[in-house]
Amino acid sequence: MSDKVVKFGGSSLASAEQFRKVAAIINGDPKRKYVVPSAPGKRFSDDIKVTDMLYKCCELAGSGVDFTDDFQLIKDRYNGIISELGIDMSLDEEFDSITKELKARPSKDFAASRGEYLNGKVLAKYLGFNFVDAADVIVFDTKGSLLLDETVKAVRERLSSLDNAVIPGFYGKTTEGYIKTFSRGGSDVTGSIIANAVRAEIYENWTDVSGFLVADPRIVENPDVIEVITYRELRELAYMGASVLHEDAIFPVRSAGIPINIRNTNRPEDAGTMIVSDDYNFSRESIKHTITGIAGKKGFSTINIEKAMMNNETGFGMKVLQVLFNNGLSFEHMPSGIDTMSITVSSDKLDPVRDKVIAELRKAVAPDHIEIEDGIALLAVVGRRMKNTRGTVARIFASMAHARVNVKMIDQGSSELNVIIGVSENDLPEAIRRIYDMFINSEK
Ligand code: ASP
Repeated sequence: MSDKVVKFGGSSLASAEQFRKVAAIINGDPKRKYVVPSAPGKRFSDDIKVTDMLYKCCELAGSGVDFTDDFQLIKDRYNGIISELGIDMSLDEEFDSITKELKARPSKDFAASRGEYLNGKVLAKYLGFNFVDAADVIVFDTKGSLLLDETVKAVRERLSSLDNAVIPGFYGKTTEGYIKTFSRGGSDVTGSIIANAVRAEIYENWTDVSGFLVADPRIVENPDVIEVITYRELRELAYMGASVLHEDAIFPVRSAGIPINIRNTNRPEDAGTMIVSDDYNFSRESIKHTITGIAGKKGFSTINIEKAMMNNETGFGMKVLQVLFNNGLSFEHMPSGIDTMSITVSSDKLDPVRDKVIAELRKAVAPDHIEIEDGIALLAVVGRRMKNTRGTVARIFASMAHARVNVKMIDQGSSELNVIIGVSENDLPEAIRRIYDMFINSEK
């Protein structure tokens, strides 16, 4: 029997009520043996995450200010959960030693890690599971980069003799013995590493949404959940800003061929989204729609360059890109015509060097005309099935035409995994809604 690794995010463990749901999920499947918790998150929208409270205590400690009151709020969160669940335990000793350490050495990483550490202690006790300190198994080098091989070895050694374990997310220890955290949201990464180490059959990532949505719910009303998405498709959508999972959580499971299942702690009956490898054997039933997701991102500018006979001029593109390089600009897209070239860049990055870039481009390639157009949004239609389906692009542009949206740029990647369209920022919501209608509503 292979095992499942289950990670629960902060909102899934924000209160005693949430702990009960989590325990029911874990107890509902004997394969759910390895549990990775986050620190208690928000219970309501204005609430403060324990991690943020810990950062604050550390900041106060660092400036020599008394942080007793702020730390008391943290104690209250844990003590509230413990007493409401009726668990027979006290974290008083832990609280004291954390306070002492913060006074002596106010390290941000140490402070933040205690949220997961304490929550792991409580959850292990509540479930009757073993507690394994992440500091003993997740290894970082002295610069703070994860040492995956050493970590996998340590996790295997530690877990081999245990039937179950709660391993707190988000942190580990450097080879010099200092506590080190991943970047925010990093418990996702811990879960992925544990799944790799135990060769889990699946990595379940439990959160407060029922998976990835086909489109942004602020734009499309009640969008469908994506049932199955490949790692590559996910990367395309994540680049456009769709976020549920920490970026670094992909690699450890992807390299081991382990699927991730995004699940909702508050709706465990929902199947969620399965993230699978690119060569996954898709069953016929999972093919519901031609496209997988639609995403949009604002804040781009295009530098439009025109010059007669551009196509005959050797090194034209190279000179243009050299100017961008000299100004520290990376480009997102660069479609070109015979006498035109248009380069999409982030407006934020362009702003500080805008005039300089234009002046240098004038000098480098002597264009007939050059201009910058701001207020551009990129819209990505992503889907592994587009490659084998005719007419997809035609349908996308028919949607644009019906919406009277002017298309400014088109880019289809060679992988045919996505079509990227540049539109004016004002047109973005309507464009997304029309594409959603065309591909999701009309295919129902
Ligand atoms: N608690 C940490 C954060 O708020 C890590 C995590 O939740 O994954 O970022």
